[in-house]
Amino acid sequence: MATLKAAILVVSTTAANDPSTDAAEAALRAVFDQDGGGRWHVVETKIVGDVTTDIQRQILLWTDGPDPVNLVITTGGTGFSVADHTPEAVSVLLHKQAPGLVHAMLASSLAVTPFAMMSRPVAGVRNRTVIITLPGSPKGARENLQAVIKTLPHACQQAAGGDSRALHVGGVKALEKDAGISSTTQQPQQHNHHHHHTCSHGHTHGHGHAAPVRHTQDHHHQQQPLSNDPSLGPTRRQRKSPYPMLSVSDAIALIKQHTPSPNITAAKVTPSLTGSVIAEDVHAPEPVPAFRASIVDGYAVVVPPGGDMRGVVYPVVTVSHAAPEGGGGNGGGPLQLGQVARITTGAPVPEGATAVIMVEDTKLVSSTTTEDGREEEKEVEIFAEGVKEGENIREVGSDVEKGALILRKGEQVSAVGGEVGLLASVGVKEVKVFRRPVVGVLSTGDEIVEHDREGELRMGEVRDTNRPGLIAAAREWGYEVVDLGIAKDQAGSLEEVLRDALRRVDLVITTGGVSMGELDLLKPTIERALGGTIHFGRVAMKPGKPTTFATVPVKNNAGERVTRVIFSLPGNPASALVTFHLFVLPSLRQMSGISPTELPRVPVVLSHDFPLDKVRPEYHRAVVSVGRDGVLFATSTGGQRSSKVGSMKGANALLCMPAGAEPLPKASRVEALLIGNLHSDL
Ligand code: AMP
Ligand code: MG
Repeated sequence: MATLKAAILVVSTTAANDPSTDAAEAALRAVFDQDGGGRWHVVETKIVGDVTTDIQRQILLWTDGPDPVNLVITTGGTGFSVADHTPEAVSVLLHKQAPGLVHAMLASSLAVTPFAMMSRPVAGVRNRTVIITLPGSPKGARENLQAVIKTLPHACQQAAGGDSRALHVGGVKALEKDAGISSTTQQPQQHNHHHHHTCSHGHTHGHGHAAPVRHTQDHHHQQQPLSNDPSLGPTRRQRKSPYPMLSVSDAIALIKQHTPSPNITAAKVTPSLTGSVIAEDVHAPEPVPAFRASIVDGYAVVVPPGGDMRGVVYPVVTVSHAAPEGGGGNGGGPLQLGQVARITTGAPVPEGATAVIMVEDTKLVSSTTTEDGREEEKEVEIFAEGVKEGENIREVGSDVEKGALILRKGEQVSAVGGEVGLLASVGVKEVKVFRRPVVGVLSTGDEIVEHDREGELRMGEVRDTNRPGLIAAAREWGYEVVDLGIAKDQAGSLEEVLRDALRRVDLVITTGGVSMGELDLLKPTIERALGGTIHFGRVAMKPGKPTTFATVPVKNNAGERVTRVIFSLPGNPASALVTFHLFVLPSLRQMSGISPTELPRVPVVLSHDFPLDKVRPEYHRAVVSVGRDGVLFATSTGGQRSSKVGSMKGANALLCMPAGAEPLPKASRVEALLIGNLHSDL
């Protein structure tokens, strides 16, 4: 059979200005390739703006020239918006209308969504060419074309002047067989979603959800969004979450797997290095001490053989203070056996001296008056016996040897001060560290108002509890936070806020909008608008069941492809704070190079009976204290309803409670995740 020539016209002002924004052409070419039975050759694609005359001129070039194509497909401009003119532009060109093709496309779309009513396709024949208008969304266009492509070869052959009688030999059955379709054996069609198909041509299309016809397996996009298609409205939303319920440990494993590795950056050694993780092995460029220093206040001496210095009176020949000027030998020449030099703690030991005798082991014997009238020591008596060489002297490099490894890659700079102090002592001025991720925090919900909004709440309003709480927690753990405000429950504004945030921050925390309501837009926005991957959307735990973890590929400001992380936490405030500590912190710690990524878990003893959830393991908020016997014991913070943020007040631990029908009795042992400092009950 001869191949048929098809041409594709993309009608989109946006795509006309920037062809890289067009995704419909590729989607349609794929349908010809995969579902076209090898009959089609796409000879040309053109892009025009939403301008009637431009649309018509291009179609006429294809239909009225010396070598007309068999099929013209347009995509775009079929909706209700002011810019949509394609059906009007095309219909005046048609010599024959083909309402059957229109009907087939609409029927399959209507099986998916009543919004298909807003698609306005036209189809028909001009001269010897079949013309069909498809919607502009790649998904809609592709599904419409799939709905009719099997019958198009026959239609095109007829339009091109094929012998109608020859074409119809064998009747409809033969035609169906030839087309690879059957009116009796056709299976119910599989619904087919594609995650990147929400990009339109920049104008509103009233369609976009067309035939759920699926003739072939799609090998390009194995990952299909599980999320609701928000445009389907409340009656068609999924009534059960399509996301598999993961165990907490599986969820944590996925977070580990998909959180990007830390980046390395240089940091000045200052007190604010606290919390950073060192990204290189650091060696001491200088020894400490840098000179031989006295450990005590006293007298530098030359130890006589045997070390017995008892009862001898020594002349005090020099003085060594810790101040650099005048330290060492302001008496000329090395110290001799039988002489002593007065010395203060930390001062350089005079050349020739082999030990320092504490002032407590001496007695002043005589003094003189100096030229400037000060009383000065002249002679001291020493009581020490068994004096060893090197006594009370810190040799050069005896604290830190020059070149010694002082900090290892992966060590975290603590607030205790030891790491900063060590770096400072050897003169390290800059170190490589893992860049600490920047966190964005966003609240979502039409009912959420700023927490400090003046005046009484109106019916239904809720003060934003999550954003202040999460920002406080993230800051306390050392992360820079960008406040992303409150987003409305509207797909468009949510997408915009998130897109902007993903350029600016490494990890976005959202709260709300992950339950099963029709306004729960986080999952669909991440999957369908941002092209992200949801790694999990449900976890078997209480509170926090709808916790969602996703990654989104984006280009950073330097134009590199990077992975951003989104945690969409439940809206209920206690759930949000619990899941922050359980899931978000490990991801942040991994991005910061901290190991282990999870907060510590310790065994604790219950100080009273604890109720359990029958089905889900519960993260019970509790206060853990050290008892007199050194055992840690846990007391509940009270009511654990997920809306009750007060259950996190004062909590320093999340008790990992199993599911169970009966309460867990007092004195039972459970594991506690430590989220704050331990208390002491002594
Ligand atoms: P959602 O998942 O959006 O349905 O939210 C679940 C519950 O959490 C609802 O009662 C919301 O009003 C509440 N909620 C959501 N976000 C916040 C917030 N930022 N502060 C306080 N409550 C919230
Ligand atoms: Mg909400």
